Amino acid sequence: MLFFIYKCTECGREYKRDEVTYLCHECEKNYLPGNPLRGVLRVEFDYADLNKSFKRDRNDLSLFMPLEREYFPLFPVGNTPFSKAEVLGDYYGVKNLYLKNDGLNPTGSLKDRASWLVVGESKRLGINEIITASTGNAASSLSAICAAEGKKAVIYLPASAPKAKIIQNVLYGAEVIPLNGTYDEAFKLSLRHTEEKGGLNRNTAYNPLTIEGKKTVGLEIFIQNNYKVPDVIIVSVGDGVIISGVYKAFYDLLQSKITDKLPRLVCVQAENSAAIHNYFTSGEYRNLSESKTIADSISVNVPSNAFMAKEVITASNGISILISEEEILRGQKILAEKTGVFAEPSSALIVSALGKLNDSGFINSNDQVVLLITGNGLKDIETPMKNIIIPETRDLKL
Ligand SMILES: *Cc1c(COP(=O)(O)O)cnc(C)c1O
Ligand SMILES: [Zn+2]
Repeated sequence: MLFFIYKCTECGREYKRDEVTYLCHECEKNYLPGNPLRGVLRVEFDYADLNKSFKRDRNDLSLFMPLEREYFPLFPVGNTPFSKAEVLGDYYGVKNLYLKNDGLNPTGSLKDRASWLVVGESKRLGINEIITASTGNAASSLSAICAAEGKKAVIYLPASAPKAKIIQNVLYGAEVIPLNGTYDEAFKLSLRHTEEKGGLNRNTAYNPLTIEGKKTVGLEIFIQNNYKVPDVIIVSVGDGVIISGVYKAFYDLLQSKITDKLPRLVCVQAENSAAIHNYFTSGEYRNLSESKTIADSISVNVPSNAFMAKEVITASNGISILISEEEILRGQKILAEKTGVFAEPSSALIVSALGKLNDSGFINSNDQVVLLITGNGLKDIETPMKNIIIPETRDLKL
């Protein structure tokens, strides 16, 4: 029988499943819109029971899901490739380098994993409208899965999002509200929407199931890696939910004594959108006033999950690294040339972190290092156009 509770990551209060939907009722009183969320909830399972039920080689992640199988959406996500990146590894001098390519999810990003679980929960609750703020990817994944389930998605996103991401949402039939504003403003408006009109809100970290959905990528890495925990996982960070989800996968495995170690997590942000990096390195949290980066999916002034993200980087003995705009473009090209993987800028910047990590001594020569590719490059072809030259068209007479 499925059993779990929600536990507040700030005050430790515990809630039964249906006593709470979003934040801790006490800590959310301290939440001011326009700041990181307070009282984000973590799902805690019965870990002794998980230990007993877990069977190697069965490849069944549903054990770790806070939702009954009967509600799982009819829209498979995940099961993305995990493979060795030898040519790229040789280039950077990282012998044991692997890629987890989540750009190959159905809508082209890792966000499918979170939307999948939230739509499943909406089926359990009998709610037909799901609302989200997004820089683009969370929205397109929600719109697609809602389409497959006959539900309505309501999308608040910056009008400046890459065209392909907006087109995805419109084509999937969502109600799309492009804003002349930032992602952070979309976040506020979408919260107001659910408060005033109801529906289920999917905002990242605000809905604790987004963390649980994203954690499936960590569980898959563990299984595809022959039930071994990698030494290092490199993750691009905006709101700080993917990195928290990756951590949660290995936390669940550790708590249930299926494994005995955690991977060291590397947080990678753009220099121009570095709120979590600044917080992790200085110990002092500050909102940014203007994040401006070509890495649109991680362009965030106020990361909703800043507090948890800092905690998980610390708990994993991790590190944080910043990448310049120029290095993002270079990383995208190197990744493509040395692995055949075309990743969107927000995802490709982790490649540039490799060189820096090697120089810093963070990676030991035998470490197994995993690059988590979070988004597909075809979602944004304008940005790499700045960095390549398409050969001139020639006449047929050669
Ligand atoms: C959302 C996203 C991220 C960052 O995830 P957070 O949970 O916001 O930290 C990274 N890469 C891509 C492609 C994304 O869509
Ligand atoms: Zn609390």
